[in-house]
Amino acid sequence: MQLQSPLINTIIKTMTIISKDIVKAIEILNNDDVVAIPTETVYGLAGNIYSEKAIKKIFQVKQRPLFNPLIVHIHSIKKIHDIVSEFPDKAEILANAFWPGPLTLILKKKSNIPDLITGGKDTVAVRIPNHPITLSLLKQLSFPLAAPSANPFNRISPTSSLHVEDYFKNTISMVLEGGECKNGIESTIIGFENNEPVLYRLGSISIEDIINVIGQIKIKNNKEIAPNAPGMLAKHYAPKTKTYLVNDVENFVKNYQNKKIGILRFSEDIHSINVVHVEILSKTGDLKEAASRLYNSLHKLDNLNLDMIVAEIVPDFGLGKSINDRLERATK
Ligand code: AMP
Ligand code: MG
Repeated sequence: MQLQSPLINTIIKTMTIISKDIVKAIEILNNDDVVAIPTETVYGLAGNIYSEKAIKKIFQVKQRPLFNPLIVHIHSIKKIHDIVSEFPDKAEILANAFWPGPLTLILKKKSNIPDLITGGKDTVAVRIPNHPITLSLLKQLSFPLAAPSANPFNRISPTSSLHVEDYFKNTISMVLEGGECKNGIESTIIGFENNEPVLYRLGSISIEDIINVIGQIKIKNNKEIAPNAPGMLAKHYAPKTKTYLVNDVENFVKNYQNKKIGILRFSEDIHSINVVHVEILSKTGDLKEAASRLYNSLHKLDNLNLDMIVAEIVPDFGLGKSINDRLERATK
């Protein structure tokens, strides 16, 4: 039967439930289906790592290429040996320092971890997320969750349940409500080469904080030199609106008097005739606050039908490095 009445269309369009009902989420996940879950970094699109059906659905919903591996989420460090075959001393030191938290470790996988999860590699990415609702969910499940960010491939990551609903309202049945993501950018990814740690993705834990725990670390944060982190594509996290990244926002906008411009600034306001909206990441110049608001601000600007977004390079230390990394990828 064709369902064509406007009423039915409305019902179909609002099929995604946003809810705190963990029992419902468990039921869906036990049924080989996917649920969007809150984490401290960004919302994830989660499925049972051992369910081929669920994992294929994650790739399909996100339109993510199959070579791009997924992060496995567990709730306790005791569970690590279900996932990995080797746990180097420095990995354990990092895990003890930062888990639960926004650190992903890439380690040799156990043979039963499906190739779909790892993109066929012999390593697997794993972390313990620091979000009470998702930790509680993981504790009640008999399997870990694979959960890449709940956005279509190459789009801005979601930091609220509404962002996820906007992206996937017709394709997923539930977003587990967990409020706004506290950190707001993805996890920092560290792998090992010859038993030495290598940082593959800048993220919610600054390089300085990592160095405080394990000393100097090699950094390979782009795809040319980081074939081990295939998700680190140059173009990523992109708004639909043409976006520029500049040092001097005030001077830059003078060149575009006839354009409708939205501004993403670190801490100061800007007044200019053609600027229709300004997002300020942190009025007090706090990089942690700036990181937590970055994607929400990009989402807002991207929904204003602007001719262009002009983003300001933020101070390049601590989490500022991670913010600048995301902004560079957004403007490629
Ligand atoms: P996300 O899209 O935020 O879930 O991040 C997943 C990213 O983790 C991928 O795009 C890769 O960069 C990285 N990753 C996951 N699994 C592996 C793996 N087995 N080896 C190397 N990098 C991995
Ligand atoms: Mg992602």
